[in-house]
Amino acid sequence: MADAPTTTTQASLNKKAARKIAYKPSGVSATRRNARRFAIRLWSVRHARALEWFYARLAKVFLMLHPMWKVVGYQRAEAPIKFIEKHVKGLLFDCRMCGQCVLSSTGMSCPMNCPKQLRNGPCGGVRANGHCEVEPDMPCVWVQAWSGAQKMQERDNILNVQKPVDQALGQTSSWLRVTANAAAERELSAQPEAGQ
Ligand code: SF4
Repeated sequence: MADAPTTTTQASLNKKAARKIAYKPSGVSATRRNARRFAIRLWSVRHARALEWFYARLAKVFLMLHPMWKVVGYQRAEAPIKFIEKHVKGLLFDCRMCGQCVLSSTGMSCPMNCPKQLRNGPCGGVRANGHCEVEPDMPCVWVQAWSGAQKMQERDNILNVQKPVDQALGQTSSWLRVTANAAAERELSAQPEAGQ
C-alpha cells in the first residue's frame, strides 16, 4: 500500500517522457528542416552574378570612403562595420567571419562551411547527390561554389589557389581589410617610381 504514491509518480513521469519523445515540430520532416537551413545560402549561389555586381559596387563605395575611415581610424570603425558584415553575410552566406573573404572566387559559396574547411576545392568524399560526406544533408560547398562561379563574370577566379586561413584574422572585418589594402595599393601606384 505504501508504494502506491511512488508508482503513481513514476507513471506520470513516464507519461511526460513519452509525450516529449512523441513531439514532432509542426509536421515538418527533418529533411525539410535541413533544406530550409541551407535555403538562403543556396539562393546566394543561384544569384552569384547579381551579388558579384553588388559587391564590386560596395567595394568601390568603401574605397571612396577611405579618407573617412582614416579620420575615424580603421580600428575604431572595425566594431560597427564588423557587426553589419557579420549579420548581412551571416544571413546570406552563413559566414563564419574568417576575415579573409573569398566569396568572389568561390561562386558566393562560403568555403568555411565545409566541415574540413577546405579552401581549394572539394575533398574526394562528395556524395553522388552532390552532398557532403561529413554532413549528408548539406550540399557540398564546393559543388555549389563551382555552380555559382559559372554564373559570375570573373568565373575563372575559382581557379586561383587560396592561401591557408590565417586564424589570427578571424572575427575581423574583411570589408575593411580589403578597403585598407586597396587604398594602400592605390597610394603606392600613385607614387612616382624611384629615379624618375
Ligand atoms: S570566406 Fe570568410 S569572410 Fe567570406 S563568407 Fe566565408 S567565413 Fe565569411
